[in-house]
Amino acid sequence: MKLTIVGFWGGYPNKDGATSSYLLEKDNFKLVLDLGSGALSKLQKFVSVPELDAVVLSHYHHDHVADIGVLQYAKLIDYYVNNNEKKLKIYGHTEDKEGYQSLSHQYTEGIAYHPDKVLNIGPFQISFLRTVHPVPCFGMRITDGKKTIVYTADSSYTEAWIPFARNADVLITDCNYFKGQDGTAAGHMNSEEAARIAQAANAGRLVLSHLPQFGVLEQLRKEAKQIYTGPISLAEEGYVWK
Ligand SMILES: [Zn+2]
Ligand SMILES: [Zn+2]
Repeated sequence: MKLTIVGFWGGYPNKDGATSSYLLEKDNFKLVLDLGSGALSKLQKFVSVPELDAVVLSHYHHDHVADIGVLQYAKLIDYYVNNNEKKLKIYGHTEDKEGYQSLSHQYTEGIAYHPDKVLNIGPFQISFLRTVHPVPCFGMRITDGKKTIVYTADSSYTEAWIPFARNADVLITDCNYFKGQDGTAAGHMNSEEAARIAQAANAGRLVLSHLPQFGVLEQLRKEAKQIYTGPISLAEEGYVWK
């Protein structure tokens, strides 16, 4: 399986950037996790819209779903131009009725996932963990049977991440704050908390994401390094892991 980071900023896209969005590929199947602000533009550097097979959404905050509406327009235009009637499947939870209903459009089909059940999409099996966030949000453990990626989406620290992320090859965490800053009220983690999960879960690699627009980002990696002994990457556009 191949992971490509499309967008990684928390809250809003920094200049020329995009908020949360990750592309997963396996056997020519193309799955997108979240599609934040600016992500549809960036995504097309790696894959064209008609090539997409499915989208899975962690929650309905703007920085994770902002580009769903324009993706629906892209699908509509693809129909007008290429007569492509294939509906794109967009998976979301149903705890926000309005958010969930917005996933269905002429050429997109909203599909409910059940957070307590494993979701099979193409070659991927996805299990969910309810995160600690001001609105219902679900992190994901995604496997192709060989490798495993865990994505915390948006969450403040909870020990539940440790068993959920156990032995993941890659752990992508919310890291919206620096060491010593408390992200609990906002529903986010700092560098130390992200690293603590990675270390306790024995993750193969830690990717710090959902990054802040303030401070020196490299500092986040240095802080995490004091706790987690494995390799650490700061999320960046076009980052690829295979
Ligand atoms: Zn959020
Ligand atoms: Zn967010």
